[in-house]
Amino acid sequence: MTDPLRIAVVGAGPSGFFLAEKLLGQDAIPVTADLYERLPTPYGLVRYGVAPDHEKIKNVTRSFDKLAARPGFRFFGNVEIGKEVTLDDLRAHYHLICFATGAPSDRRMGIPGEDLLGSHPATEFVAWYNGHPDYRDFQFDLSAERVAVVGVGNVAVDVARILAKSPDELAATDIADHALAELRRSKVKEIYLLGRRGAAQAAFTNPEVKELGELAGADVTAVPSEVALDPLSEAELAKEDDAATRKKIAILQDYARRERTGKEKLLTIRFLVSPVELLGDDRGQVRAMRVAKNRLVRGADGSLKAEPTGESEELPVGLVFRSVGYQGLPIPGLPFEQRRGLIPNEAGRALPGIYVSGWIKRGPSGVIGTNKPDAAETATTMLEDAAAGAMLAPSAGDIEPLLRSRQPDLVTWADWVKLNEVEARAGKAAGRSRVKLTRVNEMLAAIRK
Ligand code: NAP
Repeated sequence: MTDPLRIAVVGAGPSGFFLAEKLLGQDAIPVTADLYERLPTPYGLVRYGVAPDHEKIKNVTRSFDKLAARPGFRFFGNVEIGKEVTLDDLRAHYHLICFATGAPSDRRMGIPGEDLLGSHPATEFVAWYNGHPDYRDFQFDLSAERVAVVGVGNVAVDVARILAKSPDELAATDIADHALAELRRSKVKEIYLLGRRGAAQAAFTNPEVKELGELAGADVTAVPSEVALDPLSEAELAKEDDAATRKKIAILQDYARRERTGKEKLLTIRFLVSPVELLGDDRGQVRAMRVAKNRLVRGADGSLKAEPTGESEELPVGLVFRSVGYQGLPIPGLPFEQRRGLIPNEAGRALPGIYVSGWIKRGPSGVIGTNKPDAAETATTMLEDAAAGAMLAPSAGDIEPLLRSRQPDLVTWADWVKLNEVEARAGKAAGRSRVKLTRVNEMLAAIRK
């Protein structure tokens, strides 16, 4: 019998797991899959991106855990490709390599004042409240009463909801302790969610926007003229018989009709407004945002775009989160397409023997489940190439001894299981789903205990 093909998957987020699941779940070509992760913890955005109050979404990790118990799977945590080991090291040890490294950075608005104090990327806030070690010491001053969240995708909705909920509502979740403490001091009373196009073009999904209307401590509202269906959007909806968008409009129009019920906070969803400048006070702190009002026009490519009407308005906000999308980062040694922030590929193949899956393959869009068919496509390409003999030609055998020599604190799956138990036990004692460790040295200490 021939030895199994050795495959390295870099990035232990949902894409990496879905890919490993596909590769190990077939028996046409015997393979082993080593899943690399820069942090000691697996699951990527499921742990550090999914909102703490969306616990059910995290159940996807159960299938990842099942996969991890299968023969042929190994987890190598606390190993950064390009630091402890290089891409050339991987080439020397594996027949096939796949990067599933996601889109860890954020897009910018590109407006004056964007870097004033109190203006942050939503991605950093999300990583911070979810206890990502890289963001552990970031500071978010929540002493402003009015906050703007720019963008109307599901990340913007998450950020608005976390700001709108009371700390007691969040206390039972696995939100990071440092974030819960800061949210307890929060003075936020009014939250604006700002969409540059119309309500029909909002990127958020219906269950997510519906949840905003059911918050215990915040009323929700919208501006009637901004959620009225315009003729261009109406024509699109009729063409595509788009029931989900019609439902979204109905939800938003219901919000626009609602009266305040005396809840402590107010969440206002705005459309057809683009931030054009953040204004600062003499300490360099955001004090307001100037927004241009827009109308919808059909762009040259046929899509509906925002065009300024010439009118503008000033929103008196002291805190701004831009939630205008994640951004992929280049990987040394691989080509990169700057504009879309991804590694150019053909059905997952980036270079001979080197593949991509997930957000670094197609850009930062779609829910967790979207990465499953995406990973299936990459797995198919990898296995077809392997069957055709188009693979790397590794000169060395098992990589583990090299990894252990370069990273004495290599984290295996058994180590993660131990760390997981420590967090779950602390959670149980505190009446919470889990208490996350948020520093790498604390994680390693818990593992070595
Ligand atoms: P997204 O869905 O792409 O939304 C980005 C938003 O930013 C859009 O409303 C976009 O408007 C707006 N935008 C972009 N550039 C802008 C600018 N310069 N000025 C003003 N607005 C601008 O991205 P995301 O919210 O980061 O989410 C990423 C993916 O993760 C999405 O597929 C999302 O559904 C998923 N996710 C899902 C959940 C969940 O299921 N609960 C939670 C979080 C994230 P335009 O449409 O006009 O470009």
